[in-house]
Amino acid sequence: RNGLRRESFVLSVDVGTTTIRCHVFDKEAKIRGSCSSKVVLLYPEPGLVELDPEELWTGFIKVVKGAVQDAGVQMCQIESLGISTQRGTFTTWDRTTGRPFHNFISYQDLRAAKSVCSWNSSYTMMAVQGALKLLYLISKQKRFLAASVVVFSTQHVTFRLLWALTHYKELSQAVAEGTCCFGTIDTWLLYKLTKGEVHATDYSNASATGMFDTYQMGWSGLLCSAVSLPLSILPKVEDTSYGFGSTDPSIFGVSIPITALMADQQAAMFGECCFDVGDVKITMGTGTFINIHTGSKPHTSIAGLYPLVGWKIKEEVVFLAEGNAADTGTAIKWAQGLGLFSDVKETSAMAYSVADSDGVCFVPSFSGLQGAPLNDPQACASFMGLKPSTNKSHLVRAILESVAFRIRQLYQTMLSETCIPITKIRVDGGVCSNDFVVQLTTDLIGRKIARPTHHEMSCRGAAFVAGLGVGFWKNQEELKRLHTTDEMFLPRQAAQTSTDLGVVSGEYVPVLQSWEKALRRSMEWYN
Ligand code: ADP
Repeated sequence: RNGLRRESFVLSVDVGTTTIRCHVFDKEAKIRGSCSSKVVLLYPEPGLVELDPEELWTGFIKVVKGAVQDAGVQMCQIESLGISTQRGTFTTWDRTTGRPFHNFISYQDLRAAKSVCSWNSSYTMMAVQGALKLLYLISKQKRFLAASVVVFSTQHVTFRLLWALTHYKELSQAVAEGTCCFGTIDTWLLYKLTKGEVHATDYSNASATGMFDTYQMGWSGLLCSAVSLPLSILPKVEDTSYGFGSTDPSIFGVSIPITALMADQQAAMFGECCFDVGDVKITMGTGTFINIHTGSKPHTSIAGLYPLVGWKIKEEVVFLAEGNAADTGTAIKWAQGLGLFSDVKETSAMAYSVADSDGVCFVPSFSGLQGAPLNDPQACASFMGLKPSTNKSHLVRAILESVAFRIRQLYQTMLSETCIPITKIRVDGGVCSNDFVVQLTTDLIGRKIARPTHHEMSCRGAAFVAGLGVGFWKNQEELKRLHTTDEMFLPRQAAQTSTDLGVVSGEYVPVLQSWEKALRRSMEWYN
């Protein structure tokens, strides 16, 4: 290092649904260099969504090298690496050769929708749920109550993995021979970065697979034996902040310690410094994810809010409850593909350019209305109430409104279920740059919302955890002080009827009623 004391940095990568992004962070948490690359999604058949593992690996290397070059620094100045990833997307590979048996099967993939639906309505499921309720009544242990209300979802790994095990012969053979590794994206990248040395994940990623018991903090033996999943292929679960290993020197020329693996929503929560009970963050990206910090115990939900491990750092385990809506950015991108506008940045002004949506309601349900409070994986997407007078701006407004309506619905479920006083609400994700969506969300939930200037919170969160692990930052208090400046959105008065920004919340009552009617119609469509 030329005998000079050089500045050091933390590097983090976020593998999202649309892009892989990498940022180089300095001690002030300022981004000194960045690089991103598109995630190529493959659609082999309608409803199937895959990613090529080797292409993802190449993209990962490209963004790391690109960001370091962009920062004008050298690889040896990187003190540690943190990785945040989309959840529930997995592949399997041969432990000895490292060769994947199939493409990544995305969390958006619907190949297991039928089995999920038939399991959820099966007699076996009813019997299991009944037995769990009984166990709860006898033992008063909340984990039995939580398990008794959980319904399977296609976004969880479980049934897509079962599908893979029955459809790929080589894979089932490897399971029998004990040479198969299962991994979500973090596990696959860690395996590649350490040249096959490490097969591990962290608690936040594991807890989002649907195969993890947050109450016992381990893979769920009960679930795996109920659906016949081999526990032997699952990775070791480590703390979120942990010395996972170091990058093999042949990859970046130096060996960089990998000190954080984190699931994207939990990483965004950490990046937003939501460290206290009652802190809420709303991520508006490809989908919407609303998370609340529920403290040191998992939250038991009846409506179907999902209990997750936020992070485990040393002795501290933080739990979150999560509500999600699958189609947010996807609905906006779909409208773009249709030619309603050429750039997503135009949509906010288009929505404000009309006084209302002309009575049009949009149901954002390309992949069903899964999760709380609707739990319907088969609901169809729809536009309702179209008229000869309806123009493009009305359609765009209806789409953006639907994003805020879904958030309101999830927020209300969260309020009624968790009974935790909300301390603060922060937004992030690509769609949060849309003023119309954030302002309407603020109006509808009646609470102020903070929007940070830097929206890529998953990357920041993974960097924070990675940096804490090597002493680059001291503690959470220091991270809070490094926090970005925020833009505040305040709820507009319900009584106020007309502003130069258009309609306000009081006027939304009939619109919301129509939209809820549209939701019900969409849910009946395939019945
Ligand atoms: P992910 O992390 O899931 O890949 P991002 O958080 O990067 O997603 O968000 C990407 C989504 O945000 C895209 O679908 C894009 O169309 C949408 N988006 C970005 N800017 C805007 C905007 N100003 N208005 C509406 N949507 C936007």
